[in-house]
Amino acid sequence: MLLVAVTLAWVKRIRSKALGMKRTTRHAVIDRVALTALWCIFPLRLAAESFMAAIKHNGGFLTGGLGDLIAANMGPAAIGALNDTAWWLYSFALGTFFVAMPFSRYMHIFTEIPLIFLRRYKLRSCEREGSFDNFQIQACSRCGICLDPCQLQKELGIDNVQSVYFLRDRRYGRLNDEVRDNCLMCGLCKERCPVGIELGTLRLNSRAKSMDTPAATRYTYLKDSDRSSGSGTTGYFAGCMTLLTPATMASMEKIFSAAGEDVWWADREGGVCCGRPLKLTGEITAARKMMEYNKGLFRKHGISTLITSCPICLKVFREDYRLEGIEVLHHSEYIMRLVRDGRLKLSAAGGGTYTYHDPCELGRGAGIYDEPRELIRSVGRLTEPAHTREEALCCGSSLGNTVIDDGQQAAIARSMASELELTGADTIVTACPLCKKAITRGTRKRVADLSQIIAEAIEN
Ligand code: SF4
Ligand code: SF4
Repeated sequence: MLLVAVTLAWVKRIRSKALGMKRTTRHAVIDRVALTALWCIFPLRLAAESFMAAIKHNGGFLTGGLGDLIAANMGPAAIGALNDTAWWLYSFALGTFFVAMPFSRYMHIFTEIPLIFLRRYKLRSCEREGSFDNFQIQACSRCGICLDPCQLQKELGIDNVQSVYFLRDRRYGRLNDEVRDNCLMCGLCKERCPVGIELGTLRLNSRAKSMDTPAATRYTYLKDSDRSSGSGTTGYFAGCMTLLTPATMASMEKIFSAAGEDVWWADREGGVCCGRPLKLTGEITAARKMMEYNKGLFRKHGISTLITSCPICLKVFREDYRLEGIEVLHHSEYIMRLVRDGRLKLSAAGGGTYTYHDPCELGRGAGIYDEPRELIRSVGRLTEPAHTREEALCCGSSLGNTVIDDGQQAAIARSMASELELTGADTIVTACPLCKKAITRGTRKRVADLSQIIAEAIEN
């Protein structure tokens, strides 16, 4: 079994495509030393035991057969010399491996299984770098599975910043700004990682360490920023990006009106960012200031439900705000609830053909896949693109990447939009204002927010 494993490891390194991987990891020198030693250990042990079997006329299934072959073709003196040599080489390979191991990727042997076990007890990394971050970094086997899905690699040819390299460089204390910051934070690699390492959190934490600055003096304007309007216990937080997509705002207004919802608008006349873009760039203190401000605003106006059209806002509200007593919903969940409760009647009379793009923060980030699809099916026909749900591509305009330029973002948008076009749908639907803007740059087809096609289908 061990020899089969070594053979497979050889095949993976030399012809990775044969095992379904387009790329393999470029290893550090210490990894190469440990890897070479590991590869040598098993064949050398087999050779040493076979020579010993030839001398003692014993051995098992494999070593006994090889021993008989050696005894039949070599003299006792040669066998004795080669026996000594094989045992020395084997001991040297074994010793080299164990000396190199603590400094190499093979530390994953001791950390990977405990990590998988600890996951069951919901152990997670915190907002700041800590010892559990270091433990997770050791658990990366550098298998390279996270390389292939990365769009930075596929579309832009950037091949030195993927999670495996981030973890490697972070472990050896040589992480540079580009590797740290050149990531869309799309979560595609995390979805594939067989060890379940919190790749996004670890990268965010490493940014916080290096970029966080005191923000107390820069955010004094926050105390005068309440420009909210309306009343009611249902609050709507558009967020910066939705405020820049008037069609989504107008559609939400129409939906609220049709459902007879009394809405408190947190930021229709402008307001304060949810804080996640700052968090993504490592400005944790500043992000916390905004979060505290918004949280106070929600409490002051006494809302019990908070709706947002932006998955970026949704994620930070759910994960960082600790809004006890306030239910946080994405508009797809809220609209679905309205339909199920009979408060919103939709007509499929238009009968368009739609395809749906899962935004990273809504799908992989918040696990919301079904509500948008169910809503689309209630107003028309849904066709799925090649990469969908957990495998959906990123639109390329992530706020989490501060390295790639506008042209590179547009290249990613064109590539993922062409996949959506291939579905033949009349309209590309998404449920994120940022994705909507990005996809629009990459296609001539109509791109609509989910709320738009729902608002269009409301029965009068
Ligand atoms: S991060 Fe996960 S998928 Fe990537 S190399 Fe490490 S273990 Fe493999
Ligand atoms: S999160 Fe996305 S962009 Fe970043 S390394 Fe993983 S796949 Fe690549």
